[in-house]
Amino acid sequence: MRRLWRRDRIDRVDETAPKKAIRRGLLMAMIEASKSSHPYEFVALLTGKKGVIEEFIMLPYESGETMAIIQTHALPIGVKIMGTVHSHPSPNPTPSDEDLNMFSSYGGVHIIIHYPYCQNCWKAYNVRGEETELEVID
Ligand SMILES: [Zn+2]
Repeated sequence: MRRLWRRDRIDRVDETAPKKAIRRGLLMAMIEASKSSHPYEFVALLTGKKGVIEEFIMLPYESGETMAIIQTHALPIGVKIMGTVHSHPSPNPTPSDEDLNMFSSYGGVHIIIHYPYCQNCWKAYNVRGEETELEVID
């Protein structure tokens, strides 16, 4: 999947908190959103506070089987990007080259949710695309 990301809001990327966690309800909502988007990809930015991912923000974007454009200039004021989430309509959760490019620009934690969108059908990666631990909290 090919993405064109605007790089003018790079100062709003939050890479300060070393330990990351995510709210369980949010993770389940993102898995649901991925399922509803199938066979297209679900794409969103992750935000939160103090290392805890609490929200995803879907920005205006054009989605297709081969391309999505996210307009990050539409981000609400004061929002810090902690990372990204997107889905793979295949059972393969491995980041693509385009994914790695995106990871390096948008925060410290990146979630890939994959087909068939079960509760454990996701993986978290760091900025370099290496699998990383992401604690799920209630
Ligand atoms: Zn991908």
